[in-house]
Amino acid sequence: MKYFVPFVNPAANYLLIKNELETVYHEIMSKGDLVYRHQLKSFEDNLAKFVGTKYAVGLNSGYDALHLSLRAAGIGKGDEVMVPAHTFVATCSAIVNVGATPVLVDVGKDFNIDIIQIEKAITPRTKGIIPVHLNGFMADMPVIEKIAEKHNLVIVEDACQSLGSFIHGKKAGAWGLTGCFSFYPFKILGGYGDGGAITTNNESVALFVKRMRYNGEDRETGEYHGHGFTCILDNLQAGFLDLKLKFFPEWIKIRKSIAEKYWKAFSEIPDLFLPHYSKPGFDHVYQNYVVRAKQGNEFSEYLKKNGVEVLTQFRKPYYKHTELNLIDRGFPETEQLSKEVCSLPMCVELTEEQIAYVIKVVRGFYGK
Ligand SMILES: *Cc1c(COP(=O)(O)O)cnc(C)c1O
Repeated sequence: MKYFVPFVNPAANYLLIKNELETVYHEIMSKGDLVYRHQLKSFEDNLAKFVGTKYAVGLNSGYDALHLSLRAAGIGKGDEVMVPAHTFVATCSAIVNVGATPVLVDVGKDFNIDIIQIEKAITPRTKGIIPVHLNGFMADMPVIEKIAEKHNLVIVEDACQSLGSFIHGKKAGAWGLTGCFSFYPFKILGGYGDGGAITTNNESVALFVKRMRYNGEDRETGEYHGHGFTCILDNLQAGFLDLKLKFFPEWIKIRKSIAEKYWKAFSEIPDLFLPHYSKPGFDHVYQNYVVRAKQGNEFSEYLKKNGVEVLTQFRKPYYKHTELNLIDRGFPETEQLSKEVCSLPMCVELTEEQIAYVIKVVRGFYGK
């Protein structure tokens, strides 16, 4: 089906910066600079500066960032790691794939890990916690930091959906041992293929991840420092991402202005719960504009039928997929929101006409 308002429009986004992108492409291709060249170093330096950490290390995906972070923290067999019941499955898979046990924790109204439930889930085997900053709004890091200190837990931030967001000025990815980012094409900073990174202030963690992404090899000496992986960020993607990062602060402003328009148009509809939370000092960059509609599928299907492409992530929580072998201890908030979530179109390439159309269709569903 062809939508009048597609959820995202990568071709239109490309046209916004076509000339600049083609300059980057030409420079890299004409020199054959495909792996580990200055574009990667430059992107890492600029990403670290943007997030406010000493180091950033480019990887092939957000999953790799989570996976290598847990390894860097020495988490493995016999350890438990807390993870929200409502997140993308990769957060949990990284824990399982290092041999540790994920302990799921329900989320609150802001879709992030419920800080009241965290301490109840701690056992003598708990080693770490992965707060996920979902949709562009950060988990309550000041509180999580205190709990982690008290119980000696490692924090790995899943910031895959929250590049640029902050609490009291301190950015997502600057709080934990590492921050994990994804540059999957439809993330807030998207490449043209897979990509990811960790940010950290810890020099030995940065060095470990740098080696492990390249099969354990230290590029300067050729020495293998362990059995590693192949998950370095491609130089071409690094070049594109470094360019897009320059536009990024401006793009966040555009997202916020779209969110503001949605808020103005929908705030008086009682059956719609909107992602505008009153937490002073907490920023929202609107990677996703996720509403909770009481009418669930009826609402999302109506939008699609009327030419507005929406996503309903996730109607089926990951812990309900039986082959993942996870324990469903009952997560009432996740259960309920799963039936209601609906992501409205939110991207910098939306036109005024498209925004007005989304507003018209949503209000129309509620007879407004
Ligand atoms: C996208 C995403 C990931 C995984 O990133 P990939 O680059 O696709 O591996 C992990 N966690 C969250 C919350 C994400 O949104």
